[in-house]
Amino acid sequence: MPDFDLVILGAGPAGTAAAMQARTLGLSVALVDKALFPRQKLCGGLVTGRCAAHLSDIFGMQITADLFETRRNFEFYLKDQSLGDLQDVPPLHLTMRWDFDHHLLKQALAAGAADYTGHRIEALDFKANTVALANGETLTYKLLIAADGVQSPTAKALFGKPFSQHTIGFALEIEGPAQAPTEATPIRIDFAAADWGYGWSFPKKHSTTIGLGGLHARNPEMKSHLAAYLAKLGTGEDAKVKGHFLPFGAPKPTPGKGTVLLAGDAAGLVDPITGEGIGHAIHSGALAARAAKTALDQGDASRALPLYTTATKPIRRAIAQARMLRPLIFARPLQPFFARTFAASTTLKRDYMHLLSGDTEYPALLRRTALRLPRAALRYLSAAASGN
Ligand SMILES: Cc1cc2nc3c(=O)[nH]c(=O)nc-3n(C[C@H](O)[C@H](O)[C@H](O)COP(=O)(O)OP(=O)(O)OC[C@H]3O[C@@H](n4cnc5c(N)ncnc54)[C@H](O)[C@@H]3O)c2cc1C
Repeated sequence: MPDFDLVILGAGPAGTAAAMQARTLGLSVALVDKALFPRQKLCGGLVTGRCAAHLSDIFGMQITADLFETRRNFEFYLKDQSLGDLQDVPPLHLTMRWDFDHHLLKQALAAGAADYTGHRIEALDFKANTVALANGETLTYKLLIAADGVQSPTAKALFGKPFSQHTIGFALEIEGPAQAPTEATPIRIDFAAADWGYGWSFPKKHSTTIGLGGLHARNPEMKSHLAAYLAKLGTGEDAKVKGHFLPFGAPKPTPGKGTVLLAGDAAGLVDPITGEGIGHAIHSGALAARAAKTALDQGDASRALPLYTTATKPIRRAIAQARMLRPLIFARPLQPFFARTFAASTTLKRDYMHLLSGDTEYPALLRRTALRLPRAALRYLSAAASGN
Protein backbone atom coordinates (compact mmCIF):
# COMPACT_ATOMS: atom_id res chain seq x y z
CA MET A 1 0.00 0.00 0.00
CA PRO A 2 1.68 3.30 -1.04
CA ASP A 3 2.35 5.29 2.13
CA PHE A 4 2.75 9.10 2.16
CA ASP A 5 3.30 11.83 4.73
CA LEU A 6 0.52 13.74 2.97
CA VAL A 7 -2.28 12.76 0.67
CA ILE A 8 -3.70 15.90 -0.94
CA LEU A 9 -7.16 15.73 -2.47
CA GLY A 10 -7.73 18.26 -5.25
CA ALA A 11 -5.09 19.66 -7.59
CA GLY A 12 -6.47 23.20 -7.96
CA PRO A 13 -4.51 26.18 -6.61
CA ALA A 14 -4.90 25.09 -2.95
CA GLY A 15 -3.87 21.48 -3.56
CA THR A 16 -0.93 22.25 -5.84
CA ALA A 17 0.34 24.95 -3.43
CA ALA A 18 0.11 22.45 -0.56
CA ALA A 19 1.99 19.87 -2.64
CA MET A 20 4.64 22.35 -3.76
CA GLN A 21 5.25 23.65 -0.23
CA ALA A 22 5.28 20.14 1.24
CA ARG A 23 7.84 18.94 -1.30
CA THR A 24 10.01 22.00 -0.58
CA LEU A 25 9.89 20.96 3.09
CA GLY A 26 10.84 17.37 2.23
CA LEU A 27 7.52 15.60 2.85
CA SER A 28 6.31 12.75 0.65
CA VAL A 29 3.10 13.70 -1.17
CA ALA A 30 0.39 12.04 -3.24
CA LEU A 31 -1.67 14.57 -5.23
CA VAL A 32 -5.09 13.17 -6.14
CA ASP A 33 -7.69 14.74 -8.43
CA LYS A 34 -10.69 13.17 -10.11
CA ALA A 35 -9.94 15.24 -13.22
CA LEU A 36 -7.20 14.82 -15.78
CA PHE A 37 -5.47 18.13 -16.46
CA PRO A 38 -5.83 20.52 -18.13
CA ARG A 39 -9.41 20.73 -16.86
CA GLN A 40 -12.12 23.40 -16.82
CA LYS A 41 -12.72 25.43 -13.65
CA LEU A 42 -15.33 28.16 -13.83
CA CYS A 43 -13.56 31.34 -12.72
CA GLY A 44 -12.97 34.95 -13.75
CA GLY A 45 -9.25 34.29 -13.55
CA LEU A 46 -8.47 37.66 -11.92
CA VAL A 47 -5.13 37.32 -10.15
CA THR A 48 -4.61 40.02 -7.53
CA GLY A 49 -1.33 41.44 -6.31
CA ARG A 50 -1.79 39.43 -3.10
CA CYS A 51 -2.15 36.27 -5.16
CA ALA A 52 0.87 37.16 -7.32
CA ALA A 53 2.95 37.49 -4.13
CA HIS A 54 1.89 33.98 -3.01
CA LEU A 55 2.69 32.58 -6.47
CA SER A 56 6.14 34.06 -6.21
CA ASP A 57 6.72 32.84 -2.61
CA ILE A 58 5.44 29.31 -3.06
CA PHE A 59 5.95 28.47 -6.72
CA GLY A 60 8.81 30.90 -7.43
CA MET A 61 6.59 32.06 -10.28
CA GLN A 62 6.55 35.50 -11.88
CA ILE A 63 3.74 37.16 -13.86
CA THR A 64 4.67 36.34 -17.45
CA ALA A 65 2.89 36.98 -20.74
CA ASP A 66 2.43 33.28 -21.55
CA LEU A 67 -0.09 32.89 -18.68
CA PHE A 68 -1.21 36.39 -17.74
CA GLU A 69 -2.52 39.61 -19.26
CA THR A 70 -1.98 42.70 -17.13
CA ARG A 71 -4.65 45.40 -16.76
CA ARG A 72 -4.31 48.80 -15.08
CA ASN A 73 -7.66 50.48 -15.73
CA PHE A 74 -11.00 49.88 -14.05
CA GLU A 75 -14.54 51.18 -14.46
CA PHE A 76 -17.30 50.86 -11.90
CA TYR A 77 -21.08 50.89 -12.24
CA LEU A 78 -24.02 50.50 -9.90
CA LYS A 79 -27.14 49.46 -11.80
CA ASP A 80 -27.13 51.90 -14.75
CA GLN A 81 -25.13 54.59 -13.00
CA SER A 82 -21.43 55.04 -13.73
CA LEU A 83 -19.43 55.38 -10.51
CA GLY A 84 -16.39 56.51 -12.46
CA ASP A 85 -13.17 54.91 -13.50
CA LEU A 86 -9.60 54.62 -12.35
CA GLN A 87 -6.50 54.71 -14.52
CA ASP A 88 -3.08 53.34 -13.71
CA VAL A 89 -4.04 51.34 -10.65
CA PRO A 90 -1.57 48.79 -9.27
CA PRO A 91 -1.45 46.03 -11.89
CA LEU A 92 -3.97 43.20 -11.84
CA HIS A 93 -3.63 40.11 -13.98
CA LEU A 94 -6.05 37.99 -15.98
CA THR A 95 -5.51 34.32 -16.67
CA MET A 96 -7.40 31.28 -17.96
CA ARG A 97 -7.74 28.58 -15.31
CA TRP A 98 -7.39 25.83 -17.93
CA ASP A 99 -3.75 26.89 -18.46
CA PHE A 100 -3.01 28.36 -15.02
CA ASP A 101 -4.02 25.29 -12.97
CA HIS A 102 -2.24 22.97 -15.39
CA HIS A 103 0.93 25.03 -15.00
CA LEU A 104 0.73 24.85 -11.17
CA LEU A 105 0.15 21.10 -11.33
CA LYS A 106 3.20 20.59 -13.57
CA GLN A 107 5.30 22.54 -11.05
CA ALA A 108 4.06 20.43 -8.12
CA LEU A 109 4.74 17.20 -10.01
CA ALA A 110 8.18 18.41 -11.09
CA ALA A 111 8.88 19.06 -7.39
CA GLY A 112 8.24 15.37 -6.71
CA ALA A 113 4.56 15.00 -5.80
CA ALA A 114 3.25 11.59 -6.89
CA ASP A 115 0.69 12.04 -9.66
CA TYR A 116 -2.76 10.62 -8.92
CA THR A 117 -4.73 12.96 -11.18
CA GLY A 118 -7.50 11.36 -13.20
CA HIS A 119 -8.41 9.10 -10.25
CA ARG A 120 -11.84 8.97 -8.68
CA ILE A 121 -12.00 8.42 -4.93
CA GLU A 122 -13.92 5.36 -3.84
CA ALA A 123 -13.74 5.79 -0.05
CA LEU A 124 -12.13 7.86 2.68
CA ASP A 125 -11.35 6.17 5.99
CA PHE A 126 -10.45 8.82 8.57
CA LYS A 127 -9.73 6.21 11.27
CA ALA A 128 -7.37 4.06 9.19
CA ASN A 129 -5.92 7.16 7.42
CA THR A 130 -6.55 5.72 3.97
CA VAL A 131 -7.90 6.91 0.64
CA ALA A 132 -9.25 4.15 -1.60
CA LEU A 133 -9.16 4.99 -5.30
CA ALA A 134 -11.61 3.67 -7.86
CA ASN A 135 -8.81 1.74 -9.62
CA GLY A 136 -8.42 -0.46 -6.53
CA GLU A 137 -5.31 1.26 -5.13
CA THR A 138 -5.32 2.42 -1.50
CA LEU A 139 -3.12 5.28 -0.32
CA THR A 140 -2.22 5.72 3.34
CA TYR A 141 -1.33 9.05 4.91
CA LYS A 142 -0.15 10.64 8.14
CA LEU A 143 -2.14 13.78 7.30
CA LEU A 144 -4.80 14.46 4.68
CA ILE A 145 -5.11 17.90 3.08
CA ALA A 146 -8.52 18.27 1.45
CA ALA A 147 -8.37 20.95 -1.24
CA ASP A 148 -11.28 19.45 -3.12
CA GLY A 149 -13.22 22.64 -3.80
CA VAL A 150 -16.42 24.30 -2.66
CA GLN A 151 -18.45 21.09 -2.82
CA SER A 152 -15.68 19.26 -0.95
CA PRO A 153 -16.64 15.59 -0.56
CA THR A 154 -14.22 15.50 2.38
CA ALA A 155 -15.96 18.36 4.23
CA LYS A 156 -19.25 16.60 3.53
CA ALA A 157 -17.90 13.34 4.98
CA LEU A 158 -16.55 15.18 8.05
CA PHE A 159 -19.38 17.62 8.76
CA GLY A 160 -22.42 16.22 6.92
CA LYS A 161 -22.48 19.05 4.34
CA PRO A 162 -19.79 21.02 2.51
CA PHE A 163 -21.36 24.47 3.14
CA SER A 164 -24.39 26.29 4.55
CA GLN A 165 -27.27 27.07 2.17
CA HIS A 166 -27.72 30.44 3.94
CA THR A 167 -24.25 31.78 3.25
CA ILE A 168 -23.17 30.09 0.03
CA GLY A 169 -22.65 32.18 -3.08
CA PHE A 170 -23.43 31.22 -6.64
CA ALA A 171 -22.04 32.60 -9.88
CA LEU A 172 -22.84 32.29 -13.56
CA GLU A 173 -20.26 32.95 -16.22
CA ILE A 174 -19.78 32.96 -19.97
CA GLU A 175 -16.83 33.30 -22.29
CA GLY A 176 -17.95 36.04 -24.69
CA PRO A 177 -16.25 37.23 -27.85
CA ALA A 178 -12.82 38.83 -27.51
CA GLN A 179 -12.78 42.60 -28.06
CA ALA A 180 -9.11 42.96 -29.09
CA PRO A 181 -8.13 44.33 -25.67
CA THR A 182 -4.94 46.19 -24.87
CA GLU A 183 -3.35 46.80 -21.47
CA ALA A 184 -5.44 50.01 -21.32
CA THR A 185 -8.78 48.22 -21.83
CA PRO A 186 -10.65 48.55 -18.53
CA ILE A 187 -11.90 45.77 -16.32
CA ARG A 188 -15.55 46.48 -15.55
CA ILE A 189 -17.26 45.87 -12.19
CA ASP A 190 -21.04 46.29 -11.81
CA PHE A 191 -22.06 46.43 -8.16
CA ALA A 192 -25.60 45.17 -7.48
CA ALA A 193 -25.95 43.47 -10.87
CA ALA A 194 -27.23 40.62 -8.67
CA ASP A 195 -28.83 40.91 -5.23
CA TRP A 196 -25.95 41.03 -2.72
CA GLY A 197 -23.52 40.49 -5.54
CA TYR A 198 -21.95 41.99 -8.59
CA GLY A 199 -21.13 41.53 -12.25
CA TRP A 200 -17.77 41.56 -13.99
CA SER A 201 -16.37 41.82 -17.46
CA PHE A 202 -12.74 40.75 -17.83
CA PRO A 203 -11.41 41.48 -21.33
CA LYS A 204 -8.86 38.85 -22.36
CA LYS A 205 -6.98 38.14 -25.58
CA HIS A 206 -9.07 35.17 -26.73
CA SER A 207 -12.40 35.87 -24.98
CA THR A 208 -14.16 38.21 -22.58
CA THR A 209 -15.01 36.48 -19.31
CA ILE A 210 -18.34 37.91 -18.15
CA GLY A 211 -20.04 36.80 -14.97
CA LEU A 212 -22.46 37.53 -12.22
CA GLY A 213 -22.26 36.29 -8.66
CA GLY A 214 -23.98 36.82 -5.34
CA LEU A 215 -25.62 35.18 -2.37
CA HIS A 216 -27.39 32.08 -3.67
CA ALA A 217 -30.35 32.37 -1.28
CA ARG A 218 -31.13 35.90 -2.50
CA ASN A 219 -30.84 35.21 -6.22
CA PRO A 220 -33.30 32.55 -7.38
CA GLU A 221 -33.44 34.48 -10.69
CA MET A 222 -29.68 34.58 -11.32
CA LYS A 223 -30.11 33.43 -14.94
CA SER A 224 -32.39 36.33 -15.78
CA HIS A 225 -30.03 38.75 -13.99
CA LEU A 226 -27.24 37.45 -16.24
CA ALA A 227 -29.38 37.78 -19.36
CA ALA A 228 -30.15 41.41 -18.40
CA TYR A 229 -26.48 42.07 -17.70
CA LEU A 230 -25.37 40.64 -21.06
CA ALA A 231 -28.05 42.68 -22.83
CA LYS A 232 -26.74 45.79 -21.08
CA LEU A 233 -23.17 45.00 -22.16
CA GLY A 234 -24.46 44.14 -25.64
CA THR A 235 -22.38 40.99 -25.98
CA GLY A 236 -22.26 37.29 -25.22
CA GLU A 237 -26.02 36.66 -25.36
CA ASP A 238 -25.54 33.43 -27.34
CA ALA A 239 -22.66 32.05 -25.28
CA LYS A 240 -23.00 28.92 -23.16
CA VAL A 241 -23.79 29.79 -19.53
CA LYS A 242 -22.14 27.80 -16.74
CA GLY A 243 -22.72 28.03 -12.99
CA HIS A 244 -20.73 27.18 -9.88
CA PHE A 245 -21.03 27.73 -6.13
CA LEU A 246 -18.52 29.90 -4.33
CA PRO A 247 -18.07 30.15 -0.57
CA PHE A 248 -18.84 33.84 -0.31
CA GLY A 249 -17.40 34.86 3.04
CA ALA A 250 -18.28 31.88 5.22
CA PRO A 251 -15.05 30.24 6.36
CA LYS A 252 -15.17 27.19 8.58
CA PRO A 253 -14.09 28.32 12.08
CA THR A 254 -11.95 25.18 12.45
CA PRO A 255 -10.66 24.23 9.00
CA GLY A 256 -10.58 20.48 9.46
CA LYS A 257 -10.96 17.66 11.94
CA GLY A 258 -8.49 15.18 13.44
CA THR A 259 -5.74 14.57 10.90
CA VAL A 260 -7.63 16.27 8.05
CA LEU A 261 -6.90 19.89 7.07
CA LEU A 262 -9.24 21.72 4.66
CA ALA A 263 -7.71 24.33 2.34
CA GLY A 264 -8.99 26.85 -0.21
CA ASP A 265 -12.68 26.72 -1.16
CA ALA A 266 -13.12 23.55 0.90
CA ALA A 267 -12.34 25.70 3.97
CA GLY A 268 -14.65 28.48 2.71
CA LEU A 269 -11.90 31.01 2.02
CA VAL A 270 -13.37 33.44 -0.52
CA ASP A 271 -13.56 37.20 0.04
CA PRO A 272 -17.26 38.22 0.18
CA ILE A 273 -16.65 41.64 -1.39
CA THR A 274 -14.08 41.06 -4.12
CA GLY A 275 -14.79 37.36 -4.75
CA GLU A 276 -11.06 36.65 -4.53
CA GLY A 277 -10.40 32.98 -3.85
CA ILE A 278 -7.30 31.94 -5.79
CA GLY A 279 -4.89 33.86 -3.55
CA HIS A 280 -6.43 32.52 -0.33
CA ALA A 281 -6.42 29.00 -1.81
CA ILE A 282 -2.69 29.15 -2.56
CA HIS A 283 -1.90 30.75 0.79
CA SER A 284 -3.97 28.29 2.84
CA GLY A 285 -2.62 25.29 0.93
CA ALA A 286 0.93 26.34 1.76
CA LEU A 287 0.03 27.03 5.40
CA ALA A 288 -1.50 23.55 5.67
CA ALA A 289 1.73 21.98 4.37
CA ARG A 290 3.83 24.02 6.83
CA ALA A 291 1.61 23.02 9.76
CA ALA A 292 1.89 19.39 8.63
CA LYS A 293 5.68 19.58 8.50
CA THR A 294 5.94 21.07 12.02
CA ALA A 295 3.53 18.51 13.48
CA LEU A 296 5.26 15.55 11.81
CA ASP A 297 8.68 16.81 12.94
CA GLN A 298 7.27 16.86 16.49
CA GLY A 299 6.08 13.28 15.95
CA ASP A 300 2.45 14.22 16.60
CA ALA A 301 0.20 14.49 13.52
CA SER A 302 -2.70 15.68 15.69
CA ARG A 303 -0.80 18.97 16.30
CA ALA A 304 -1.22 19.96 12.65
CA LEU A 305 -4.85 21.11 12.88
CA PRO A 306 -4.39 23.50 15.85
CA LEU A 307 -1.26 24.90 14.20
CA TYR A 308 -3.07 25.33 10.89
CA THR A 309 -6.13 26.87 12.56
CA THR A 310 -3.90 29.51 14.18
CA ALA A 311 -1.94 30.14 10.97
CA THR A 312 -5.10 30.73 8.92
CA LYS A 313 -6.72 33.03 11.51
CA PRO A 314 -5.68 36.25 9.69
CA ILE A 315 -7.41 35.01 6.50
CA ARG A 316 -10.63 34.27 8.40
CA ARG A 317 -10.37 37.63 10.21
CA ALA A 318 -10.01 39.50 6.89
CA ILE A 319 -13.04 37.66 5.53
CA ALA A 320 -15.03 38.49 8.68
CA GLN A 321 -14.10 42.17 8.28
CA ALA A 322 -15.17 42.07 4.64
CA ARG A 323 -18.52 40.67 5.80
CA MET A 324 -18.91 43.63 8.15
CA LEU A 325 -18.34 46.03 5.25
CA ARG A 326 -20.40 44.07 2.74
CA PRO A 327 -23.81 45.59 3.62
CA LEU A 328 -22.39 49.01 2.81
CA ILE A 329 -22.04 47.98 -0.82
CA PHE A 330 -24.82 45.45 -1.21
CA ALA A 331 -27.67 46.31 1.20
CA ARG A 332 -30.40 48.11 -0.76
CA PRO A 333 -31.10 50.87 1.83
CA LEU A 334 -27.42 51.90 1.76
CA GLN A 335 -26.93 51.74 -2.01
CA PRO A 336 -27.77 55.42 -2.73
CA PHE A 337 -25.26 56.44 -0.06
CA PHE A 338 -22.66 53.99 -1.41
CA ALA A 339 -23.19 55.18 -5.00
CA ARG A 340 -22.83 58.87 -4.04
CA THR A 341 -19.76 58.33 -1.88
CA PHE A 342 -17.98 55.90 -4.19
CA ALA A 343 -18.66 58.02 -7.31
CA ALA A 344 -17.38 61.17 -5.59
CA SER A 345 -14.32 59.65 -3.96
CA THR A 346 -11.19 58.71 -5.87
CA THR A 347 -9.69 57.74 -2.50
CA LEU A 348 -12.38 55.12 -1.90
CA LYS A 349 -11.95 53.73 -5.41
CA ARG A 350 -8.19 53.61 -4.90
CA ASP A 351 -8.74 51.88 -1.54
CA TYR A 352 -10.76 49.21 -3.35
CA MET A 353 -7.94 48.75 -5.85
CA HIS A 354 -5.30 48.65 -3.14
CA LEU A 355 -7.36 45.99 -1.44
CA LEU A 356 -7.15 43.92 -4.61
CA SER A 357 -3.47 44.61 -5.09
CA GLY A 358 -2.73 43.51 -1.53
CA ASP A 359 -1.36 46.95 -0.52
CA THR A 360 -4.26 47.54 1.89
CA GLU A 361 -5.99 45.05 4.16
CA TYR A 362 -9.51 45.31 5.58
CA PRO A 363 -8.68 46.78 9.04
CA ALA A 364 -7.30 49.97 7.45
CA LEU A 365 -10.22 50.15 5.03
CA LEU A 366 -12.73 49.59 7.84
CA ARG A 367 -11.24 52.45 9.86
CA ARG A 368 -11.26 54.87 6.91
CA THR A 369 -14.78 53.90 5.88
CA ALA A 370 -16.14 54.29 9.42
CA LEU A 371 -14.85 57.88 9.48
CA ARG A 372 -16.81 58.74 6.34
CA LEU A 373 -20.09 57.13 7.30
CA PRO A 374 -23.10 59.11 8.44
CA ARG A 375 -24.46 57.89 11.78
CA ALA A 376 -27.52 56.24 10.21
CA ALA A 377 -25.34 54.09 7.98
CA LEU A 378 -23.13 53.13 10.94
CA ARG A 379 -26.23 52.06 12.88
CA TYR A 380 -27.38 49.99 9.89
CA LEU A 381 -23.96 48.35 9.58
CA SER A 382 -23.70 47.40 13.23
CA ALA A 383 -27.25 45.99 13.20
CA ALA A 384 -26.42 44.03 10.04
CA ALA A 385 -23.15 42.80 11.58
CA SER A 386 -25.00 41.24 14.50
CA GLY A 387 -27.29 39.31 12.14
CA ASN A 388 -24.80 38.89 9.28
C1 LIG B 1 -17.70 32.05 -11.47
C2 LIG B 1 -16.54 32.22 -10.52
C3 LIG B 1 -15.62 33.23 -10.76
C4 LIG B 1 -14.52 33.37 -9.91
N1 LIG B 1 -13.59 34.34 -10.21
C5 LIG B 1 -12.49 34.49 -9.43
C6 LIG B 1 -11.48 35.42 -9.78
O1 LIG B 1 -11.57 36.11 -10.79
N2 LIG B 1 -10.40 35.53 -8.96
C7 LIG B 1 -10.27 34.77 -7.82
O2 LIG B 1 -9.27 34.92 -7.10
N3 LIG B 1 -11.20 33.84 -7.49
C8 LIG B 1 -12.30 33.67 -8.28
N4 LIG B 1 -13.23 32.69 -7.97
C9 LIG B 1 -12.97 31.80 -6.83
C10 LIG B 1 -11.92 30.74 -7.22
O3 LIG B 1 -12.30 30.10 -8.43
C11 LIG B 1 -11.77 29.68 -6.12
O4 LIG B 1 -11.71 30.32 -4.87
C12 LIG B 1 -10.52 28.83 -6.32
O5 LIG B 1 -10.61 28.07 -7.50
C13 LIG B 1 -10.32 27.88 -5.13
O6 LIG B 1 -9.28 26.99 -5.40
P1 LIG B 1 -9.27 25.52 -4.74
O7 LIG B 1 -7.97 24.91 -5.11
O8 LIG B 1 -9.66 25.62 -3.33
O9 LIG B 1 -10.48 24.75 -5.45
P2 LIG B 1 -10.71 24.36 -6.98
O10 LIG B 1 -9.99 25.29 -7.86
O11 LIG B 1 -12.19 24.23 -7.13
O12 LIG B 1 -10.04 22.93 -7.12
C14 LIG B 1 -10.61 21.81 -6.49
C15 LIG B 1 -10.13 20.56 -7.19
O13 LIG B 1 -10.64 19.43 -6.47
C16 LIG B 1 -11.00 18.44 -7.39
N5 LIG B 1 -11.97 17.54 -6.76
C17 LIG B 1 -13.26 17.80 -6.43
N6 LIG B 1 -13.83 16.71 -5.92
C18 LIG B 1 -12.88 15.75 -5.90
C19 LIG B 1 -12.87 14.40 -5.50
N7 LIG B 1 -13.95 13.78 -5.00
N8 LIG B 1 -11.73 13.71 -5.63
C20 LIG B 1 -10.62 14.30 -6.15
N9 LIG B 1 -10.58 15.56 -6.57
C21 LIG B 1 -11.70 16.28 -6.44
C22 LIG B 1 -11.56 19.20 -8.58
O14 LIG B 1 -11.50 18.42 -9.77
C23 LIG B 1 -10.64 20.41 -8.62
O15 LIG B 1 -9.56 20.22 -9.51
C24 LIG B 1 -14.34 32.52 -8.79
C25 LIG B 1 -15.28 31.50 -8.55
C26 LIG B 1 -16.37 31.35 -9.41
C27 LIG B 1 -17.35 30.24 -9.15
